[in-house]
Amino acid sequence: MSEVNEVKKIAVIAGDGIGPEVVAEAEKVLKRTEELFGHKFETEHALFGGIAIDERGTPLPDDTLAICKASDAVLLGAVGGPKWDNNSKELRPETGLLGIRKALGLFSNIRPAVIFDCLKEASTLKPEVLEGTDLIVVRELTGGIYFGEKFRRETENGQEAVDTCVYNVSEIERIARQAFEIALTRSKKLTSVDKANVLETSRLWRETVIRISADYPDVELDHVLVDNCAMQLLRRPSSFDVIVTENMFGDILSDEAAMLTGSIGMLSSASLGEGSFGLYEPVHGSAPDIAGQGISNPIATILSVALMFRLTFGYHEAAASIERAVKNVLDAGHRTGDIAVDKSSAIGTTAMGDLIVAAMSK
Ligand code: NAD
Repeated sequence: MSEVNEVKKIAVIAGDGIGPEVVAEAEKVLKRTEELFGHKFETEHALFGGIAIDERGTPLPDDTLAICKASDAVLLGAVGGPKWDNNSKELRPETGLLGIRKALGLFSNIRPAVIFDCLKEASTLKPEVLEGTDLIVVRELTGGIYFGEKFRRETENGQEAVDTCVYNVSEIERIARQAFEIALTRSKKLTSVDKANVLETSRLWRETVIRISADYPDVELDHVLVDNCAMQLLRRPSSFDVIVTENMFGDILSDEAAMLTGSIGMLSSASLGEGSFGLYEPVHGSAPDIAGQGISNPIATILSVALMFRLTFGYHEAAASIERAVKNVLDAGHRTGDIAVDKSSAIGTTAMGDLIVAAMSK
């Protein structure tokens, strides 16, 4: 996909709260990747979120957007915090998040859920059920019921509310292709989740996914109804590899899948647009309750870099090196406070980042 020595531009948005702490550790990983693998990254920092409101009077300044658009990928920490909670809508960090996704044309959200053996006890599920779980939920992000027409009307039975769910073929095609492409880089197994027994949008979804599957003969495709998928995720999560689904189903299933792993500090994510461009960020927020204490877990952000390597740059070896390093550090017993059983032995953000960097190898 990419030449090893091609310089890759990464917009780095630290954001608010623990954002700057965890992003700093991810940047160390970028630097170590350059040393180990010869890849070259050019990073440019940009203001976004609460800090941008304070310094520029808007959560998403034009130059931040310009930096992102001129980059191959964006690495984002987290935004938000109580300081801005009572601001008007346009002066809220979350408004910036919606704005940046729209402006960058990001139409899918990718959430891996991987079980680290040594953290199985952190999950609410039995360890034997979790064994071998390593899945990705690919969620359509810009269509469906969240974006359809919504209104209320008076009827003879009182007030009625309507939410419409709309999907067109091209919206389904582009997310399906993305999911097939991701499946090709993994175990070539794709599960499309819908509710085709009752919803017309789901019937179009299924028809379209089946048509696109003709271009991916090496990928084994199956279809699961959303209610069944919700059950199977709890019963035998390891049977899934890549799951692709529409916006609302994906919203719910990706949170369910995330909770299999037990800790929010471990979860990476990507939002992808056309081509290979993507925005990578931890699933967690700015954690204002622990910000500035140096105790946040940087692993979600570090694993977001690994995801960036895989999905945007095609640097699979470097990605594997990061993932292996995280596993080795955890296997050796090192824990930040959020994943430590014995809190007194917990290490800080920088120490965790340094250990992961030191554990990276070719
Ligand atoms: P949160 O994810 O920030 O925190 C939830 C809990 O998890 C907290 O107790 C926190 O300390 C802990 N936690 C989160 N990440 C951690 C980490 N890396 N290491 C250790 N512990 C961690 O969710 P919240 O408290 O609901 O939201 C706080 C702020 O973040 C709000 O302003 C919210 O709007 C914002 N937010 C931003 C994003 C984003 O930037 N994409 C996502 C979610 C929430």
